[in-house]
Amino acid sequence: MHELTLAERALGIVEKTAREAGAQRVTRIRLSIGALAHVDPDTMQYCCEVVSRDSLAEGAQIEVTRAPGLAWCSTCQAEVALAQVGEPCPACGGYQLKITDGDQMQVVDISIE
Ligand SMILES: [Zn+2]
Repeated sequence: MHELTLAERALGIVEKTAREAGAQRVTRIRLSIGALAHVDPDTMQYCCEVVSRDSLAEGAQIEVTRAPGLAWCSTCQAEVALAQVGEPCPACGGYQLKITDGDQMQVVDISIE
C-alpha cells in the first residue's frame, strides 16, 4: 500500500527528530499531503497510527492537512493552482501543464515532551 510506505518514511523522520531533541514521547504530528499526491488523508492517518506502535510516537495525535497543487502552464507562462491531476489549466483550459508542487508529503511539525 502506497500510504503505508509514506507513513513509514514520515514516522522515520518524526522519530529521528524526536530522538535528537531528547524527547520521551511524541504527542502530535502534523503532516501535509499535496492535493496531487494520490494519497487518501484518512488512510494516511490510519497507516501512521499503525506504524507508530511501539515507537516514541505511539498514541500521538496525527493531523493531516492538504496542501494545494501547483503547476506551470506553458501556454499562460504562469504558475496556476491545480486541484487534481488531469485537470486543465484554470486560466486557459489547456493541458500544457507541468506539476511543480503539491505532489508530495511532508512532516510539517511535531510536538514532543
Ligand atoms: Zn494556462
